[in-house]
Amino acid sequence: MDPETGQSQRYQSRMQRQKAIVDAAIVRANKSKGLLLVLTGNGKGKSSSAFGMAARALGHGMRVGVAQFIKGRSDTGEEAFFRQQKNIVWHVLGEGFTWDTQDLARDRETARRGWVVVQTMLCDTSIDLLILDELTYPLKFGWLEINEILADLQNRPAMQHVVITGRAAPDVLCQAADTVTEMRDVKHAFQTGIQAQTGIDY
Ligand code: ATP
Ligand code: MG
Repeated sequence: MDPETGQSQRYQSRMQRQKAIVDAAIVRANKSKGLLLVLTGNGKGKSSSAFGMAARALGHGMRVGVAQFIKGRSDTGEEAFFRQQKNIVWHVLGEGFTWDTQDLARDRETARRGWVVVQTMLCDTSIDLLILDELTYPLKFGWLEINEILADLQNRPAMQHVVITGRAAPDVLCQAADTVTEMRDVKHAFQTGIQAQTGIDY
């Protein structure tokens, strides 16, 4: 047998074994439920991943709710785009970064009023996917009580998916989640003096 044929046969049998493993895993994964996903870490990609899922869900005719807790800027492409879609409700519940507002009592009150809006969506069986963008900050700063938030999440409709984004997700939240992804900051253009780029960063 020439070396190329041998290599091709070894590749084929390795792929057959791989396919058997993947097929068996797919057969085992036969349950369905509303998922709690946490996208955390210091690297870029948390909110944009969440909005990628929003696009997927809308593409399937599902209804999507978005609650944005820390509102860094009001000119994002995702907001402009998704507000044009019919199956999405978009709530801006935050006022800005803490270093902009510099008012603890006001930030706490804003977060609590925001959570009341989220509670209505967590009771709404017509919302299939709920994105709680930057929710980790009100949790981290103690503006919202984590046990109350976890209880409300647990009592949501059985098939409702929830995606939570933001750095430094609390451990208890990650433990409660079905899927947790930590974005790792390998490098980011901003660190070399490049400003936020339209369509990439906002
Ligand atoms: P994105 O919205 O791009 O998915 P993100 O949600 O992961 O980012 P945030 O912490 O919400 O990250 O910050 C949003 C903005 O900050 C974006 O413009 C993003 O490019 C930028 N950013 C994210 N991570 C970093 C980083 N490690 N260094 C510098 N800028 C960052
Ligand atoms: Mg974000």
